[in-house]
Amino acid sequence: MASTSSSMPTAGFPILRSVPDVRAWRKDAFEQKQAVGFVPTMGALHEGHLELVRQSLKNCDRTICSIFVNPAQFAPTEDLSTYPRTLEDDLHKLSSLQIDGKRVSGLFLPSVKDLYPDGIEQDVSKQRGTFVDVVGFSQEMEGASRPTFFRGVATVVTKLFNIVQPDLTFFGQKDIQQCLILRRMLSDLHFAHPPSPLHLRIVPTVRDHDNLALSSRNAYLSPAERKYAPLLYNALSAAKAKIEDELQHQGSVSQVDGLAAAMAAMSEYTTTAPADNVHIQLDYIKLNDPTTLKEIDEVKQGQAAVLSGAVKIGKTRLIDNLLINIEM
Ligand code: AMP
Repeated sequence: MASTSSSMPTAGFPILRSVPDVRAWRKDAFEQKQAVGFVPTMGALHEGHLELVRQSLKNCDRTICSIFVNPAQFAPTEDLSTYPRTLEDDLHKLSSLQIDGKRVSGLFLPSVKDLYPDGIEQDVSKQRGTFVDVVGFSQEMEGASRPTFFRGVATVVTKLFNIVQPDLTFFGQKDIQQCLILRRMLSDLHFAHPPSPLHLRIVPTVRDHDNLALSSRNAYLSPAERKYAPLLYNALSAAKAKIEDELQHQGSVSQVDGLAAAMAAMSEYTTTAPADNVHIQLDYIKLNDPTTLKEIDEVKQGQAAVLSGAVKIGKTRLIDNLLINIEM
């Protein structure tokens, strides 16, 4: 079993610094016939991440987490260099979790060189090597604003799944398109670990007291901006209420009508924000099919739909989503 490096803060579990370390850890779990749950993260852990870990502890014999800020999913203009890195605090949080007498059994902390031995360019046109792109799906929804994001995610998750070989893996509904794209990837590429798309478990979004979805990027918000941050959730909730009401009474609802309720809720905030010196810019609010990820013009009774959006508050981009006729 790998040991903790001397420069590392201590944790109540082994810190695995290399691919061979994880292979040895995994071999032992195979030999002991223990089911392995895996929670990949970029660190700066909050209650949302910890809920994924709790679900893994509940459902698996052993839980392994990873912390890796993946350069391939940041566009050259995005916040790779300033993304919060709080390793000591993360180790403390992971060490404190315990469910049914089970604790985290390992943390994979790869370096960029471990996962991208030749290095990694953020400019896709300069990249060389093997990349995974769930074509079409990666360009819908968030992909329209972040065209190379899901390629970076699918690539790093493929590497992590091949290294860790999880029996179950836990992702957050907060990044619903990521979950749906990765499930599609597991199916298309016949992954053996995890053994099916449904072995990628989707955990409901954990929210703050005012319903703001927890996110590592919330740390970027100034106190004035933080006050406005629940606006996206409130706009999505208004649209969801309108859509569900129309479905119940009319049997169908157009995207235009459903989203009008979200726009009305947004405008309440955008009129007061300039007075508080807060700059709000809506990127999108959309209604999409959870299987094809294509936009839905009209929702019919019983039809599943994903209601999602993105908004920029100051320099911070926030995303959120709510589900219609979908149980995760
Ligand atoms: P990240 O560190 O942002 O890459 O997130 C790692 C995992 O945590 C992903 O599966 C996210 O969807 C999940 N996650 C992030 N925020 C939340 C949240 N508020 N509730 C539930 N899961 C979350």
